[in-house]
Amino acid sequence: MREQMLIFLDFDGVICDSVHECFLAAWKAYFEDDGFRSAAGWNNSPPDSVPLEWKRRFDYYRPYIRNGEDYLALFRVLEEGMKIADQESFDRIMEKFIGEERQNIRERFYKARESLIEQDFSRWLYLNPLFPGIGEILQRNHTNKQLFILSTKRPDFIMKILSFHGIEWNQEKILFAADIPKARFIHSVIEREGAVRAVFIDDQISHLLGVSGQEIRCLLPNWGYIKPEWPQLYGIEAVGVEDLSRIIEEATGIQSV
Ligand SMILES: [Mg+2]
Repeated sequence: MREQMLIFLDFDGVICDSVHECFLAAWKAYFEDDGFRSAAGWNNSPPDSVPLEWKRRFDYYRPYIRNGEDYLALFRVLEEGMKIADQESFDRIMEKFIGEERQNIRERFYKARESLIEQDFSRWLYLNPLFPGIGEILQRNHTNKQLFILSTKRPDFIMKILSFHGIEWNQEKILFAADIPKARFIHSVIEREGAVRAVFIDDQISHLLGVSGQEIRCLLPNWGYIKPEWPQLYGIEAVGVEDLSRIIEEATGIQSV
């Protein structure tokens, strides 16, 4: 009898502290392509230097980000000096700014990222540090067949970042959930692997709320991009890096043949 537990880790906000890179890519997209600003009736001259206050507020609102286009629209929030209280208000404002241009804005953000990579690959890598302690956990488990990275980020980018941090990883253990809800992805992998349970750690609350079925235990990373009120507000447990280590060990331990 085989009782196997799988573990799925999100990448941005769980493994990689990518907010710095996202800030720069969004800055570049926002100011180098005038479409977004001219739609608001503004000219296209960026400030001479990056206001630190913008970065601080960008970090503050990062937990509310749902996708690439939100990073860019968030810049308009910063420029207008708006204040946002919660996820619902954030979503409403993003929808207002993005509207029909969703695909266009998304492509602009990803194009800016690609150009950052082309212009200065090593700087791009430095802008993508791992959260403290996470690299060691991944390296310790790089042959662990029960541990997967489940992300909407391109697997080749994830491989580049992991490799830069000295982590050997098999690309087959990176699942790319571009257009598929993560919950559905997890269910299909559980079935494929003949597993019975899974742990899913993600910092974006909408990914966790969409998960149904008692076989999947959802957790918030207390080191990632989450708001302190979320565990209680949404009834989802938050764990620390040391808990993650223990959860992986226990998952490996329960495997019996
Ligand atoms: Mg995330």
